[in-house]
Amino acid sequence: MTTTKISKSKWDGFSLKPRREMPEGLWLACPSCREMLFRKTVEDNLHVCPKCSHHFRLDGRTRIRQLVDEGSFEEIGADLRSTDPLRFASSGQQYCERLKSAHAKAGSEAILVGKAFIRGRGVILAAMDFSFLGGSMGMVVGEKFCRGVDRAIEESLPLVVISASGGARMHEGVVSLGQMSKTSAALARFDEAGGFFLSVLTDPTTGGVTASFAMLGDIIIAEPNALIGFAGPRTIYQTIKIELPEGFQRSEFLLEHGFVDMIVPRKDLRSEIGRLIDYCGKP
Ligand SMILES: [Zn+2]
Repeated sequence: MTTTKISKSKWDGFSLKPRREMPEGLWLACPSCREMLFRKTVEDNLHVCPKCSHHFRLDGRTRIRQLVDEGSFEEIGADLRSTDPLRFASSGQQYCERLKSAHAKAGSEAILVGKAFIRGRGVILAAMDFSFLGGSMGMVVGEKFCRGVDRAIEESLPLVVISASGGARMHEGVVSLGQMSKTSAALARFDEAGGFFLSVLTDPTTGGVTASFAMLGDIIIAEPNALIGFAGPRTIYQTIKIELPEGFQRSEFLLEHGFVDMIVPRKDLRSEIGRLIDYCGKP
């Protein structure tokens, strides 16, 4: 019988420190309860920790797969690409290069928009992708969002948007800030047309997305313990030098203070969206 010795150099750089998000490999450590979990078990549990119910962040495609009736998602605006209007560079890297690697790694953009069915109900569904440049809102996110809204108006469909974003995309400067008014104006048109907008806030929903479409839902749902706010807790502390209360900017705090209507665990999200569409959405 032969044994394989693992040389010390193989373990160099290996860290037992729990990562914040789901790493590659068979096992992962839950960032909340620190339990070592079998990756497949977590995936089968909708990417929720079976021990403590920590909701892991989802990329856009996984989110859509979890919500829609199988094979029903028809994407809108998949070919849209940013033009890098400022020729922006930061930390020695061009924005256009960052975009290329983000496209290669995460897919089309920081939001996926399309027509789909959720438990048999037709919807326009948008899911943001935090893994694409922090889910930041630039010109493509704004344009895809508005195309989705236009389609919802044309076809009298409810609009469901799952937010996960660090805010406006600074690489596009004022063009990204313009998306806040552009998306809000589209929602005003949608509202005038009698549309039903269901906004779902997930961890994290911050900055320009919170300050525009995410908080404009006819009904606003949050996933448990999601960070939701405008400026992050660190920025607030550095600005006003005051410690924030425990749980500040988390879903439960916002529910208590009337900023969200309900907290829905991921396992119930699909059925709850269906129920709310039946109750509030146009036939
Ligand atoms: Zn856990």
